[in-house]
Order: sequence, then C-alpha cells, then structure tokens
Amino acid sequence: ILAARKISKQYNPLQKAVDGISLTVRKGECVGIVGESGSGKSTLAKCLLGLEKPEQGEIWIGENRLNSLNRKTVRAVRKDIQAVFQNPAASLNPKLKIMDSLMEPLDIQERNPFSLVPRRREGRERTAAELLNIVGISSSYLHRYPHELSGGQKQRVSIARAISIRPSLIILDEPTASLDVSIQAKILNLLKDLQESLGISYLFISHDLAAVNFMGSRTLVMKDGRIVDQFHREDLFAESRHPYTKALVNVFE
Ligand code: ATP
Ligand code: MG
Repeated sequence: ILAARKISKQYNPLQKAVDGISLTVRKGECVGIVGESGSGKSTLAKCLLGLEKPEQGEIWIGENRLNSLNRKTVRAVRKDIQAVFQNPAASLNPKLKIMDSLMEPLDIQERNPFSLVPRRREGRERTAAELLNIVGISSSYLHRYPHELSGGQKQRVSIARAISIRPSLIILDEPTASLDVSIQAKILNLLKDLQESLGISYLFISHDLAAVNFMGSRTLVMKDGRIVDQFHREDLFAESRHPYTKALVNVFE
C-alpha cells in the first residue's frame, strides 16, 4: 500500500530530521515505529501524508508516486490514507458537532459519484451513530461539541473519523500519548480490533516501545532520523539486537 524510498527532510542546514528512510507497509500489516523524542518520527509521518515535502526520495501509494502527481491525483490517492495524531483536538474542528466531524471526510468523498454517502439528515445521523458505536461511544454524543468530551472520547471520535471512509491505511502518530494509562490500553485494544475486523493497515508511531510492540507485527527503530534496527514482535528480546534497541528494552523493563 505504502512505500518510501530513501526519503530525507531537513529543516535546517546542520541536521536532517529524516535521513534516508525506506519502508513499506503491506496490505493488512501493522508496522510500528519507535524512537525517542526528536528522532524524526512526526516529520516522517508528515512526509508520508504529503504535509511536508521531502527534499529527497520517493513515496509510493499503491501504484502512484506521490511527488510526481498533480494535486487532484494526490487528493484521490490520499482518500486511501487517514491519520490520527497525538492531540485529538488537532484533528477535530472545535466548531463542529461530533456528528458533523464524523461526516466531514465522507462529504469530501461525496464529490466522487460512486460513493454512497447519505444526503438526508436521518441517514447521516444513522451513519454517524454507527461509527460512534464501533468505537464504543453512545450516540447521545452526536450533538455535542469536542470540548464537551474527555480526551479519550475525543481520540475515539478521531479514530471513528479516520475509519469512516474505510481507508486501506491509517498513520497513527502517538495516538495515545496524551491519555492516561488505562485509557491508553483501551484505545490500543480498540485499534487492534478494528484492524482485525476491517482489515486496515497501520503505521503506528510512538516513543513507547511496549505500545509499539503490542501493535506492530514488525517494528522499525528510529534514531537521529535513521532506521537503526528492525525486528518482528517475537524477536525483540533476541541477543543480536542493535545496542540502541537493547537500551530501549532496558528502559522499558
Ligand atoms: P516527538 O517524540 O517529541 O514527537 P519526533 O520523533 O516526532 O519527536 P520530530 O517532531 O519529527 O521528532 O522532529 C525531528 C527534528 O526536526 C527535531 O530536531 C525537531 O526540532 C525538528 N523539527 C521538527 N519540526 C520542525 C519544524 N517545523 N521546523 C524546524 N524544525 C523542526
Ligand atoms: Mg512526534
């Protein structure tokens, strides 16, 4: 679904935030990225989402190369990829009721004549209520505004919004970092259930090795803008791990 080849992004001349990273995410796969603060994880996510333009490298979404496409095609490709960020407030418009936030990605897609987005109010309410139901929130929240929800509820709504268009990939950048530990575990379990039931692929980014290893069947370790190690879930504790990964494991034990 997604492939990056040697992408680099530099904000200042002295340091590359992302330094020649290649990765692939295949259909149905959950790839994790772990790395300390400042290692370039969010910069990488933004490049993959087209929110930042890397100076070097190629990004492929399916058969389409991102950098070479015109804007219209980028948008069409982008429909297949959604993102959930650390701060749910960033992905929810404070002026929109929960119902309207949930319908917004579908409305954008509505310009596509093939999509079946309900135009009538009752149909829209039903669709939005179903989305809330999937993420475990009562439909009585449909007519509330984001500020009337807790952090965990807002993050659930962001996830519902992300799955509304049935994307093939969701990029999650520290989706649970602003939540307390018990809510974190619930959100991770929800994401895992959705991955299994909807067959979505994830790129799951976090500084928390335990969370990344829980989610990702394969994990890439980032340090100073590079990938220094990668492992499958069961190999995390292998003796041959890179010293940096071992250091992360020691912190987490
Ligand atoms: P965290 O875990 O704290 O979210 P991160 O791994 O996501 O960290 P990035 O946000 O990608 O790290 O930052 C990587 C480097 O790029 C840092 O040195 C940061 O200071 C720099 N950087 C990030 N965004 C910008 C920007 N918009 N302008 C200038 N420098 C930036
Ligand atoms: Mg970040």
